[in-house]
Amino acid sequence: MRCALRFIESTCDIAVISDDGDFLFQHSLALPNTYSALLNSIFDVLKAQDPSGRAKFVGVSLSGDYTSQTERLYCPSIPLIDGQNLKADLQAALNREVFIASHAHMLVKSASQLPEFKSNTNIFSLYLDDEICAGQFVNQALVTGVNGLAGNWGHICLPWPVEFELEDRDCACGRSGCLCLFVSRAALSREYLFLSERELTAEAIFAQAEQGDIVAESAVQVFEDRLARGLAMAINLIDPEVILLSGRMSLPKRLLVNLPRKWPGYVRGGAQATKLAVFANSTEAMREHCLRGAASL
Ligand SMILES: [Zn+2]
Repeated sequence: MRCALRFIESTCDIAVISDDGDFLFQHSLALPNTYSALLNSIFDVLKAQDPSGRAKFVGVSLSGDYTSQTERLYCPSIPLIDGQNLKADLQAALNREVFIASHAHMLVKSASQLPEFKSNTNIFSLYLDDEICAGQFVNQALVTGVNGLAGNWGHICLPWPVEFELEDRDCACGRSGCLCLFVSRAALSREYLFLSERELTAEAIFAQAEQGDIVAESAVQVFEDRLARGLAMAINLIDPEVILLSGRMSLPKRLLVNLPRKWPGYVRGGAQATKLAVFANSTEAMREHCLRGAASL
């Protein structure tokens, strides 16, 4: 039996999952106003569900990373936990061992247990949301890195930039030109705003492009080109068998056709053996797979 937490926007999903993978308990906790109240609330929920402490481990899924070098969490999309030593604080509050990894890591861990991906030995996972994170699963093991920083793809500079493309792109991480400024939900909305002077969500832009809106189509094409370049860089580094795309963007199937078409410009041979898949492309599926992955660390 294991516990899993998933932080997303203003909620913390809490689950207790059996060794057979059955969800024994699920609850969505609205994030309280203070960090100490959050720790107390999670303690209260788990104490009620597992009073004897049978679940010794808690996996935490979030959009960011935790590095033991600083003992601080990087999760700018959730200020309540950003910069905190969430690992040590949760371990002290819950009296259980705590593992923290990104949503992308959790999704690829969960996917690796499914029949369609079970035989794959090198899977790259990309979680596209307001914040971007990546994960890698190699030879049946999650690659988190010696510093806990593996998968920090969103804060690598956009590769092969065209003239002026990197200008005025300051990132919250302190650098500039990071990929998350070009292929996040907010980035797609910004591109559309730039073209149309109208505000739309990423999901609405994809939907309008699907219906033939020329401006939305233009914004999506720019997004696709940048995402293809970012993935080509990953292929040049780790050459995965499978790339999983997920995140709260309702990613359209067109990406599966249009992204690989661009790879020959950046990858020798075009990476024809790399399979691209949209994974967990709904709110419910995303929650389930993040929690399953967190519970199986
Ligand atoms: Zn950055």
